[in-house]
Amino acid sequence: MRAVIAGGGLAGLAAALRLRAAGWDVTLCDNGAAPGGKMNRQREGGYQFDTGPTLLTMPHILRKLYADLGERLEDHLELRALDPHAEYVYPDGFRLTVPALLEEWLEVVRALEPRDAEGVRRLHELGERIYRLSELTFFRHHPLSPLSPPPAAAIRHLPLRHGWGNYAKTVERFVKNPRLRQLYNRYPTYVGSSPYLCPATLLVIPYIEHAFGAWSVAGGMYRIVESLDGLARARGVEALTGSRVTAIEHERGQVTGVRLQEGRRIRAQAVLFNGDASTLGALLGEDEIPPNNGRSLSGLVLLFGLRERIPGLRHHTVVFSADYRAEFEALFRERIFPPDPTVYVNAPGDPTLAPAGGQALFVMANAPACSTEQWSEQVIADAKRRVLARLQRAGMPDLEARAAVSSVRHPGDFELRYLAPGGSIYGESSHGWRRAFLRPPNRSRRLRGLYCAGGSFHPGGGVPMVLLSAEIAVGLMQKDWGD
Ligand SMILES: Cc1cc2nc3c(=O)[nH]c(=O)nc-3n(C[C@H](O)[C@H](O)[C@H](O)COP(=O)(O)OP(=O)(O)OC[C@H]3O[C@@H](n4cnc5c(N)ncnc54)[C@H](O)[C@@H]3O)c2cc1C
Repeated sequence: MRAVIAGGGLAGLAAALRLRAAGWDVTLCDNGAAPGGKMNRQREGGYQFDTGPTLLTMPHILRKLYADLGERLEDHLELRALDPHAEYVYPDGFRLTVPALLEEWLEVVRALEPRDAEGVRRLHELGERIYRLSELTFFRHHPLSPLSPPPAAAIRHLPLRHGWGNYAKTVERFVKNPRLRQLYNRYPTYVGSSPYLCPATLLVIPYIEHAFGAWSVAGGMYRIVESLDGLARARGVEALTGSRVTAIEHERGQVTGVRLQEGRRIRAQAVLFNGDASTLGALLGEDEIPPNNGRSLSGLVLLFGLRERIPGLRHHTVVFSADYRAEFEALFRERIFPPDPTVYVNAPGDPTLAPAGGQALFVMANAPACSTEQWSEQVIADAKRRVLARLQRAGMPDLEARAAVSSVRHPGDFELRYLAPGGSIYGESSHGWRRAFLRPPNRSRRLRGLYCAGGSFHPGGGVPMVLLSAEIAVGLMQKDWGD
């Protein structure tokens, strides 16, 4: 059996390894210069930057991938638990540090706002019930899959009425303190969505972070890609970079292979697509125009190679904007870069990532998904100025003056690099329960032999979810084609 995987993101790599282990011949074609897709790396002047994910959650899912391949994660990667998880800085200078343990975090909450300790605990309990339900259903199959457990069985585990309401309103119901509300309202941005528009089921995210920890990887997150790519090549996966798939070919309802940009054809019984779901129709020769108003967030990323470390800076720092609701109005309704953005700073403590005494700093603000031409030099310069102004108001030194090297990545770059329209990081946003739950499935309903995995497909984006996505898609392939 031969499969072609179009896209060498994390899900593409994981699927390649799983299929190879099941005895398939696998060719993986990625359009980029290096594998990994959005989980990628930039090296410059002795600094090494992760340009995508900086936070690993649910490490057991990554560990399971290695175990399913007969490997031990510890023989390939060194995961480091973060404690505290993050420091939050508010516009008036107030700071909240979130420890790893939920009980310790509840103590912090109690000291800040005694009446909210119970509410925060209840938010996490709701998140846990949603997680338990997802483990039985959503994390295993697409909700419309015939493999899903019968609705009655799933409904018994339903997390009661609050789980299906609006996210921000649910937070408001349980938590009164505005600082805590803002902090909890940030979690839906982990999947590129607005807390004011997504369902409360995304409360599973804060639950997951405390239940399974926040992790970094020694040597940078890109070590995950290096490790998976190395294993794939060692096990006989043909891994091609700089290879863009321009067509997924099919005859009489059956996939026959792919055509590459250079003109080469690769024949295969099955194709697994790991690109953005909105580009799939064009690859199949359909001329429908994908809707672009429901795209998830993109980002503006600034990388600074600092000559000296900033003392006291945590691994993760979040510097909040003054008006969170206005920020999301700008991002999703006006579709402009917010005048006052919330800024995330990742300062890895790993000394191997910078020259002696220096620091590789990753700074990111949410940006609307909009295409390359909207990101003129002027728009980028303005956005960058707003990010740096927010950081300076929070007491951060002038990063540009301290940097030996620096660079910017904007949604237009993401669009071109990852073939993701608008530079959107997670495909469609999770606004409304339909969009959150009925993401494009992992097996085509129309074409035999076409499968899909990655952040814009079921079950969604982020490192653990795309690994699950690959597991689900390969499970379907094995079922359809025999082991
Ligand atoms: C700045 C940033 C920060 C992030 N932070 C986090 C974080 O902290 N934690 C977290 O869990 N997640 C984070 N994410 C999200 C996470 O990176 C993604 O959800 C995940 O890596 C996506 O994996 P994927 O399998 O969907 O593939 P992708 O990364 O989307 O890769 C798909 C690959 O396929 C290629 N491709 C597409 N179409 C074709 C084609 N036709 N032919 C050939 N190749 C094609 C693309 O170029 C790309 O290389 C972040 C992402 C970004 C960009």
